[in-house]
Amino acid sequence: MIFFDKFLKKEYTIIECKNCGYWKKEKINVNKDVDKIVGHTKDLFFNGGCPGCNNKNQIEIRIYDKNGNNLNSIERDREAAEKMNIFNKWFEDGIYYQKKGHMNVIRNPGDAEEAYKKASECFDKALEISSDNYSAWYNKGICFQNMGNTDEAIRCYDESIKINPNFKRAFSNREMIKIIERSKK
Ligand SMILES: [Zn+2]
Repeated sequence: MIFFDKFLKKEYTIIECKNCGYWKKEKINVNKDVDKIVGHTKDLFFNGGCPGCNNKNQIEIRIYDKNGNNLNSIERDREAAEKMNIFNKWFEDGIYYQKKGHMNVIRNPGDAEEAYKKASECFDKALEISSDNYSAWYNKGICFQNMGNTDEAIRCYDESIKINPNFKRAFSNREMIKIIERSKK
């Protein structure tokens, strides 16, 4: 699409719905806080939905400079996929260090502790991206349990169970800690 109006001498965004064809053009100043402006547009259309059909996923926001060059395109689906990739990377790193911890727990307790610490930091990074992932909370709980920090482990299992009340492994680990704690008294 080519536009020939005066408006296009400015930088602008085009918001387009791929479901119903709704589109809107907005003037912006790319030198001025473009992230904030685009962030606002994202909030409006990704969270509020398309004004034409209410769909929230098939909306694309494109940013152009004053010469009509497409500077950036933002799609919710693609953004979500990118976020998921980063989440998966941290999660997999966490599992890697957790396994390293398990392998060292008897022979090199110091190494195990260090590996569990690293693993829990990876799960934290994953949870920064997706705080409602019960599996990341559960695995973080295992790390703290194995480091002897039972309070923090219980807190993690609680979070996991809150998100997925049918997740039996978090339940049984939490129960196990409580039984051991009781037996100590
Ligand atoms: Zn629409």
